[in-house]
Amino acid sequence: MNPNLSVPRVVDLRSDTVTLPTAAMRRAMAEAEVGDDVFGDDPTVQRLEARTADLLGKEAAVFVPSGTMGNQIALRAHTEPGDEIVVESEAHIYYYEGGAPAALSGVMCRCVAGRRGVFRGTDLESVLRPPDVHFARTRLVCIENTHNRGGGSLWPLEAILDVAATARRHDLRLHLDGARLWNAAVATGIPERDYAAPFDSVNVCFSKGLGAPVGSALAGTREFIARARRFRKQFGGGMRQAGLLAAAALHALEHHRERLAEDHAHARYLAAALARLPGVGIDPDAVQTNIVRFQVTRQSAREWVETLAAAGVRVLATGPDAIRAVTNLNVNRADIEYAAGVLARVAASEARQTQSSPQADEDPAVPPNSSSAPR
Ligand SMILES: *Cc1c(COP(=O)(O)O)cnc(C)c1O
Repeated sequence: MNPNLSVPRVVDLRSDTVTLPTAAMRRAMAEAEVGDDVFGDDPTVQRLEARTADLLGKEAAVFVPSGTMGNQIALRAHTEPGDEIVVESEAHIYYYEGGAPAALSGVMCRCVAGRRGVFRGTDLESVLRPPDVHFARTRLVCIENTHNRGGGSLWPLEAILDVAATARRHDLRLHLDGARLWNAAVATGIPERDYAAPFDSVNVCFSKGLGAPVGSALAGTREFIARARRFRKQFGGGMRQAGLLAAAALHALEHHRERLAEDHAHARYLAAALARLPGVGIDPDAVQTNIVRFQVTRQSAREWVETLAAAGVRVLATGPDAIRAVTNLNVNRADIEYAAGVLARVAASEARQTQSSPQADEDPAVPPNSSSAPR
């Protein structure tokens, strides 16, 4: 076939949230049995909540419209205004949720700097203060697995247990932002329930790698989830015939969990290809799941994003010199090979441009450098 006659390809790697529902998922949605879930009448939502609680080894779960709402309801249910929570300094809860801890729960965030999002019990210990009227009451510790800004990094189970033991010793509650916990489980073979066991509450997303159009769930004890339901209503997250959405999430749980391994393989392929390019900084060994973060040197990340988009490869700039690509359900092996080819062409053309410019005698080799990856 003449390649010039083929339809221009668009490979969208901006996020794993850009996926479109599959035909089978749309059928499951169309056929879902529904009712008014605020009255507790939606059997499909109830099935999703029970299935999620079971996968996470928790007593109960509540379906919510977004991961942000799941996290923020958890903060609200665990704390009182004026309390302090401990979060990693680049955690989604702190970095990407619009200041919600302050706006919705009236809590202060105490940040701990992790290494690619992962910290230890001693790091937690270092920000704790004794009970005293001068101090905010520290109440909750949050962990994110996999860690988004850490580049889809995995929390070792042993580090989780270390932080959890410290938290227990100080009578602190523990929340897991597991938007991509499904990816962690597939990457390591550690079941979701084992990861979830040390936590009082766990938030998971169906709308990321699993490919559902909408929805997350918060899981915990029956008592905690009953309290969380009250805050879901208060925050405006009570939905009526939500079984249409829950059906997509159930379909995703049953059919799209194991295939996350393909996304991880595609991410590794892309990382290995990037590591061979001039003007690109990446530590391919740091790519553990479906997120590929890399640095660009010769042109700004914004310029790279524009050039790549014109060639049909969509990625996100996450800093002046930082780019993120996320593999997902709608991207197959041929797409990822195409994206790697486009990246190679862009890098080569930039290298030529720079060599003919006055800065040409600068060292063109950018060593793979893990410390340049955003933490
Ligand atoms: C995406 C994400 C969320 C939730 O995001 P929503 O867009 O509100 O669904 C929460 N935590 C992490 C780590 C995420 O990546």
